Amino acid sequence: MSYAYDTNNIFAKILRGEIPCNKVLETEHSLAFHDVRPQAPHHILVIPKGPYVTFDHFALEASDAERADYVAAIGQVCKDLGVQPGEGGNGYRVISNAGNDGVQEVPHLHVHIMAGRMLGRMLE
Ligand code: C5P
Repeated sequence: MSYAYDTNNIFAKILRGEIPCNKVLETEHSLAFHDVRPQAPHHILVIPKGPYVTFDHFALEASDAERADYVAAIGQVCKDLGVQPGEGGNGYRVISNAGNDGVQEVPHLHVHIMAGRMLGRMLE
C-alpha cells in the first residue's frame, strides 16, 4: 500500500503561499484556516504541513513530532473558539473525510472543526 500525494492539490498551494487562506493558527507542523464554504458558524480546517493524503496515512507515517503538533493544534483551535464542553462551551464536531466513500474533495489531510449550531446526529 502506498499513497500518491498530488503536489498540485489546493491545500499544497496554500502551504506554499501560492493562494491565500484565512489563517487562524499556524504551528511548526500544522496550519488552521477558515473553510471557504462554512457549514456552521465556526468551520475551521486543520491540516498538517507534511504531504499526507488521509488521516490513516498521517497516523501511520508521520513523525511523533508531527502527530503531537497536529493533535495539539486541533485542540488549540477548539480552545480558541471557546467551544470546549468541559470548559463551558457548547461543543463541536471534528471529522475527516477520506477517499471516495468518505467524499474527500481535497487530497491533503484535513480535519473539519464545526461548531456554533446543533449539528444533528450522524449515526442512528
Ligand atoms: O473533506 P472535503 O475534502 O470534502 O472538504 C474540503 C473542504 O475544503 C470543503 O469544505 C471546502 O469548502 C474547503 N476548501 C477551502 N478552501 C479552498 C478549497 C476548498 O476551504 N480553497
